[in-house]
Amino acid sequence: MTTTHHTCPHCHSPIALDRFEYATDGEHFFRICPECDHTLLMVDGEGWPVRVEPVGIDARGSAAAPLARNSVEA
Ligand SMILES: [Zn+2]
Repeated sequence: MTTTHHTCPHCHSPIALDRFEYATDGEHFFRICPECDHTLLMVDGEGWPVRVEPVGIDARGSAAAPLARNSVEA
């Protein structure tokens, strides 16, 4: 069993990957440090941002999260 840890660049705590919270803006994935709430853009092994794959979106009335941009209240 290998538990993979990722050191948070903000608070430098080694965080087990299953302790991170995950979020997406509809295009990229983010990990949120449970210690300091720092949001990390997830990258692949080559350092590129991990893209949300548009799979199975139009198959059946998708309940996928809509592209929710925080709209600025006027
Ligand atoms: Zn942190």
